[in-house]
Amino acid sequence: MTRIGVLALQGDFHEHIQALESLGVETSEVRLPMHLEGLDGLIIPGGESTTIVKLGDLYGFREAIRVELDRGMALWGTCAGMIVIANELTDDRPTPFGYVDMKVSRNWFGRQVDSFEQDIAIAGMEGGPYHCVFIRAPAVASLGDSVEVLANFDGITPVAVRSGKIMATAFHPELTDDTRVHEMFIALARNGR
Ligand code: GLN
Repeated sequence: MTRIGVLALQGDFHEHIQALESLGVETSEVRLPMHLEGLDGLIIPGGESTTIVKLGDLYGFREAIRVELDRGMALWGTCAGMIVIANELTDDRPTPFGYVDMKVSRNWFGRQVDSFEQDIAIAGMEGGPYHCVFIRAPAVASLGDSVEVLANFDGITPVAVRSGKIMATAFHPELTDDTRVHEMFIALARNGR
């Protein structure tokens, strides 16, 4: 049985748990580093990246997640989660955990369009474009050679990327009934630890 955990320090972890449960995988809320043990995949949810980094560092998650990544755990960051797992931000705060060779811009879509929805094609996904919900969303400002763009907002702004067994999306698949991105992540996590 595939085991996927959701980092449950802050943000909309509950919605991810529900989406995963509907797909029949074993799911758990990750509140302490010891809860990472034996997971095939971990999701860092949307919320507030400064808070997630602060609490994560308080409990020692920065290093503990890195150890599990080296052991083959898959990782997916959504929205604030995308910010948390980046190597670098265009903003001064927070200091991200740094698992993916990309530079991320917080609140990329600005104040006038804080939140919006848009259908976007995702590479490798069948069944047509995906309905993407953006909430004060970040975007990828630049990325390294190891990072593949899965979806672009406007042809030039990456909003979904993959690097090995790590995925990041600027939008919130857990807020729609379309489970295709969760299925993509489960397939990645199943792909051998
Ligand atoms: N703007 C938030 C941040 O910088 C992210 C928003 C979200 O996760 N929906 O942390």
